[in-house]
Amino acid sequence: MSEQIHQVAIVGGGVCGTALLYMLAEYTDVSDVILIEKYDAVATVNSHGRNNSQTLHCGDIETNYTLEKAVKVKSAAEMVVNYTATLDNQDQVIFKYPKMVLGVGEDECHKLRERFQAFRKQFPAMQLLEKDKIAEVEPNVVLINGKPRPEPCVALAVLDEYCAVDFNQLAESFVNQAKNNHDKNLTIAMNSHVEEIVEQDGVFLIHTQNSVIRAKSVVVSAGGHSLLLAQQMGYGMEFSCLPVAGSFYFTPKSLNGKVYTVQNDKLPFAAVHGDPDVLIDGKTRFGPTALLIPYLERYNSKTFSEFLRVLRLDRGVLKVFWDLFKVRDIRNYIFKNFLFEIPGFRRWLFLKDVRKIVPSLQLKDIQFAKGFGGVRPQLIDKKKSILMMGEAKINPGNGIVFNTTPSPGASSCLVNAETDMRMLVDYLGGNIDEQKLQQVLHK
Ligand SMILES: Cc1cc2nc3c(=O)[nH]c(=O)nc-3n(C[C@H](O)[C@H](O)[C@H](O)COP(=O)(O)OP(=O)(O)OC[C@H]3O[C@@H](n4cnc5c(N)ncnc54)[C@H](O)[C@@H]3O)c2cc1C
Repeated sequence: MSEQIHQVAIVGGGVCGTALLYMLAEYTDVSDVILIEKYDAVATVNSHGRNNSQTLHCGDIETNYTLEKAVKVKSAAEMVVNYTATLDNQDQVIFKYPKMVLGVGEDECHKLRERFQAFRKQFPAMQLLEKDKIAEVEPNVVLINGKPRPEPCVALAVLDEYCAVDFNQLAESFVNQAKNNHDKNLTIAMNSHVEEIVEQDGVFLIHTQNSVIRAKSVVVSAGGHSLLLAQQMGYGMEFSCLPVAGSFYFTPKSLNGKVYTVQNDKLPFAAVHGDPDVLIDGKTRFGPTALLIPYLERYNSKTFSEFLRVLRLDRGVLKVFWDLFKVRDIRNYIFKNFLFEIPGFRRWLFLKDVRKIVPSLQLKDIQFAKGFGGVRPQLIDKKKSILMMGEAKINPGNGIVFNTTPSPGASSCLVNAETDMRMLVDYLGGNIDEQKLQQVLHK
């Protein structure tokens, strides 16, 4: 058993954990950090491009965001863009495509016109496109056999900005950049499954399957497993976790860029969108769906018992389920998302959603993306009886923090890492190179 005490241990090598490793190595005088990951590579779970929509969320085309939230998300995304500008392989990590949110029918067009007026000051690159202009960017969205589709359509578009990221590549780049700081003692412990964390005399003992790692402070960024590890220590008992999986469907290339659709305000998850797949040439990926599943990790049935432990089913959780189920749109949405998983039937059902974006698509064009799609660990606040939509942080104030980061967690990885970096430096009594941080990430 090693008696070495690290200054910081990061549990979870997704894009959030690796972003924190980079932040500490690059902008602080914290000299000894260990990253602990249960698999043999970083970012193989939700941060892998297969499992998320690869969107750098900026708030302009996501109509589920208020202006206030959109402005926050935009500044978080700018940190990612600024960071990738420092990379030699930037073009393998971040991508430019035209992007738009499409309104179909009078109501949605009206909503988008109003949104344009409200957002244009904070989003100066945003354009309002009428049907003929949409056709110049995305002909398949408004034309059927060369003729305009019958419904009224407008779009809010941004045509020349970074909007897609391979978050797996981003995570790998964070580790490589961190390792360039040769004066630091950085340890990357792969294949190390954290089973339990215990606090003893101000030191955290992190038990993996074959060792005990010691650290003065800990940040756990392990998706739904963050809550599991927190609750083992008696923290975050007021929360329950609802894993919401997302599936995707492929079509042959039918879009030039990202096309989002207008959000139904009553639904808690983003509406289906179409995106170029940065991992697979010549395909357009549609999705994600939103399916409640009893696993903390998609396609990993071993995480069923862990799900039961964090669900902690009681009256508070049942009340949230009931409140969701009472709303007709949500009820129908939940059922529809179950039907999306039935082989044979699902392609036919999904075709309806996809045709809102590309009306000429046929059943034969659609293929279920088998093995794609991750899980959003949505927390339920049992005291307030609410389903929490964004990121959640459990910080008992003693040098350990637990993060759960559903969408847009990958886009916000650097801003979240900055928050944790500040907490850690404060706790350990270290220093931050504020000037470098401003010059590189906040320029
Ligand atoms: C369908 C879908 C679409 C999405 N689309 C987008 C999008 O377009 N844009 C966006 O910004 N976000 C998107 N997200 C959200 C985004 O994927 C997540 O916010 C992000 O990947 C979270 O990163 P993370 O590092 O916190 O978690 P993860 O990537 O899940 O990493 C957690 C890591 O912790 C490790 N781990 C877990 N338990 C342990 C343990 N006990 N011991 C050691 N290691 C452990 C895991 O192996 C994993 O590597 C989407 C999510 C889903 C599901």
